[in-house]
Amino acid sequence: MNTNDFDVIIIGGGPGGSSAATYLARAGKRVLILEKEIFPRFHIGESLLPYNQKIFRELGVLPAIQAAGFPRKVGAQFFLGNGSMSTRFVFRKGKFTREPEVVQVERAKFDHILLKHARSSGADAREGWTALKTISDADGVNVEARDGEGKTYSLRARFVIDASGRANLTGNQEGLRVVHPRLKKLAVFGHFTGVALDAGEAGGDTVITRLENKWFWIIPVSQEKTSVGLVLDKDEFAASKLTPAEVFNQWKEFSPVMQQRMCNAQLSGEIKTTTDFSYFNRRLIGGRVLRIGDAAGFMDPIFSAGVYLAMWSGKLAAEVVTKSLAKGDDGSRRFLKFEKRVKAGMHFYWQMVEHYYTKPFMELFLQPRNHASLPDAVNAVLAGELEGGWNLRWRLRYFFFLVKFHTRRPLVPRLNFAPLRRQETSDVLSTEKV
Ligand SMILES: Cc1cc2nc3c(=O)[nH]c(=O)nc-3n(C[C@H](O)[C@H](O)[C@H](O)COP(=O)(O)OP(=O)(O)OC[C@H]3O[C@@H](n4cnc5c(N)ncnc54)[C@H](O)[C@@H]3O)c2cc1C
Repeated sequence: MNTNDFDVIIIGGGPGGSSAATYLARAGKRVLILEKEIFPRFHIGESLLPYNQKIFRELGVLPAIQAAGFPRKVGAQFFLGNGSMSTRFVFRKGKFTREPEVVQVERAKFDHILLKHARSSGADAREGWTALKTISDADGVNVEARDGEGKTYSLRARFVIDASGRANLTGNQEGLRVVHPRLKKLAVFGHFTGVALDAGEAGGDTVITRLENKWFWIIPVSQEKTSVGLVLDKDEFAASKLTPAEVFNQWKEFSPVMQQRMCNAQLSGEIKTTTDFSYFNRRLIGGRVLRIGDAAGFMDPIFSAGVYLAMWSGKLAAEVVTKSLAKGDDGSRRFLKFEKRVKAGMHFYWQMVEHYYTKPFMELFLQPRNHASLPDAVNAVLAGELEGGWNLRWRLRYFFFLVKFHTRRPLVPRLNFAPLRRQETSDVLSTEKV
């Protein structure tokens, strides 16, 4: 075997790539990760799902993550921007939720821990190496790559896992990317000190504040720093002719919930933006290549599922590749099953995301009634229960049916996004949490 030959080349050392690499290296495979950046590097996507915890245990990386001192996340809170309504999901209280908590992370540190763990598990992880192109044939895949000094190489593997994130290397190469027509969003975000968080364990919650057609996230990522971001329509941002910081401040001032949380906040670093993040690739497989995580697709960060989907699909890809190497075939039938499963998992969240932007969904979501254990089903989804079986599936279908029904015949009071009178606002904001 040539020294440039591998069982698997993984393009990208984010959470998806590192996880797939660790599973494969632990199964004794010869794994190469090509990562174009030098870690630690900034990345957005800081709120994890409790089901991530299961993967951390399987990867053997949980002790390193616990030692990093990240804030604990035991729940998620959703507010209307004017403070007139809110709800909190506590994962351990959900009867279908099998993982009660996780951590919120600063991605620079978290991704570095995962990459180092993949390396110590036996993967050859090369930082500063950019994959340029893949060329598949019947027996394997050639990957053209460039190292940090600009020297190019032709590397070969039996299989390639594309974990290049939104750079979407092989999907773009094959023209597979489909942008969601109705979710053309822009995110404006930064790290802040001094954000008002709740006392006690609720202080680690993700806090989502929903305005009429935009929303804020608040995610504590370390003892000092909190990530705060605004997601809005790209066209609205362009039409406003404001800078990202001006738009962020304008809508922060518009919402009493955000004003209260941010009244002593100080920006640490700069305000950043990102756009065009809601898309999927028509195919997730082809020519001994499997696409995982954001390189398979991504849709809106509202439910914080991106990192979990990346690690989960990384695990499935590693299983498929391990079996195909053992059988000595091209894995085509297994690849098809992988694609079906990953698409179904992603579709699950996409359905939630598409509904999230409708008012009837928010009306039922923010005013949960304990009917048919629907809040428990939603709790499980928010925790990362992707494949919860029929028990969960019928409840979610029923929930979406109720949303439709409620559109015509109200089941709960309608939402009011308009600013409240001063007294009403302070009454709601001072209400104690469950
Ligand atoms: C505004 C916003 C907020 C978000 N918030 C959350 C959140 O709260 N929680 C959550 O779970 N998710 C969130 N996400 C999604 C999350 O960021 C991603 O889903 C997640 O990072 C996907 O992981 P990945 O490993 O697939 O890709 P990435 O984490 O993007 O990793 C891909 C890696 O590939 C490398 N790479 C790219 N091209 C090449 C190449 N040609 N050669 C070599 N290396 C390459 C990159 O440098 C990168 O390190 C958010 C996304 C956005 C846009």
